[in-house]
Amino acid sequence: METDVLVIGCGPAGVQAAIHSSRKKASTIVVGKPSNSAVSGTDIDNYFGTGEVSGDSMLANGIAQARSTGAVFIDENVVSASASDGRFVFGLEGGETVTASAVVIATGISREKLGIPGESELLGKGVSYCAICDCNFYRGRRVVIVGNESEAAVSAHLMTSYASEVSWVAWEPSVSGNLVDRAVGAGVARFGSRPVAIEGDGRVERLVLEDGTTIPADGVFIELGARSSVDIAMDLDIMPEMDDTIKVDGRCMTSVPGVFACGDVTGKPWQVAKAVGQGCVAGMQAADHAKGSR
Ligand SMILES: Cc1cc2nc3c(=O)[nH]c(=O)nc-3n(C[C@H](O)[C@H](O)[C@H](O)COP(=O)(O)OP(=O)(O)OC[C@H]3O[C@@H](n4cnc5c(N)ncnc54)[C@H](O)[C@@H]3O)c2cc1C
Repeated sequence: METDVLVIGCGPAGVQAAIHSSRKKASTIVVGKPSNSAVSGTDIDNYFGTGEVSGDSMLANGIAQARSTGAVFIDENVVSASASDGRFVFGLEGGETVTASAVVIATGISREKLGIPGESELLGKGVSYCAICDCNFYRGRRVVIVGNESEAAVSAHLMTSYASEVSWVAWEPSVSGNLVDRAVGAGVARFGSRPVAIEGDGRVERLVLEDGTTIPADGVFIELGARSSVDIAMDLDIMPEMDDTIKVDGRCMTSVPGVFACGDVTGKPWQVAKAVGQGCVAGMQAADHAKGSR
């Protein structure tokens, strides 16, 4: 298959890039699984103009919009990438090959997991990986933040403005004293043993620690940081940053001309609004690049 623009990733960033690329009359293919988007299965309540909206309906509507202007969607993963003479060649998991004049990498991040019982079973039922996204749902409730790094300390402090009780579990803390003092000063209770299970009957009720402590909780926020899926970028000679994000300029272009990136893969904030904003820029720029090289 040949296309002007290949978008890798079918989350908010990739879908928005496809909408803007296809509206500029660049042929556009999106490869990615919407069911693997971070937004799938969530409710978004901080996106401009929508009120609370389900992430899945947001994605379905966006895909329909992009299809209406000619974008083609393939529900697969890209498994290989290479570049030659200003053209980019990608292998898909089904064996197909796509050649493109411009590329948009919108592969998101994989959030680090604890890997303990109850974590995946209670995801969305009190288990969350994003305090800034879900804080509003925990007004007046009891929450536990789990994580050893600054991100967890900042989230614990943030949650004191919403929750009635905030506990922070850090078993190998690596956080500056200022952040710890700020969290503790705001009333956060600290625990120093490793989590071993999240328990509850259909919803989170408690977090169990290795030393036998049980912390009653309505929400457990796992804030361990994240890894980005940047293998494709490296195949295209783009060197990821130390934190595995992909650096872009104001046009969302990477260090390789014709390769653009947008959304969570470019770094924080991990928010739909930022993903969509960058998707718009990347989609338009990729379309212009592809049409210029026709
Ligand atoms: C539980 C939770 C709640 C959240 N709540 C909010 C909220 O309230 N408000 C808010 O603004 N944000 C929220 N977020 C964050 C928001 O979901 C992300 O910022 C947003 O989805 C990022 O969009 P993206 O397109 O960059 O990445 P994603 O949505 O993660 O999409 C990445 C896409 O890339 C695909 N992909 C990855 N590798 C490949 C490959 N090799 N080949 C092809 N495709 C690939 C994936 O399958 C997926 O389709 C929440 C996130 C979580 C996890």
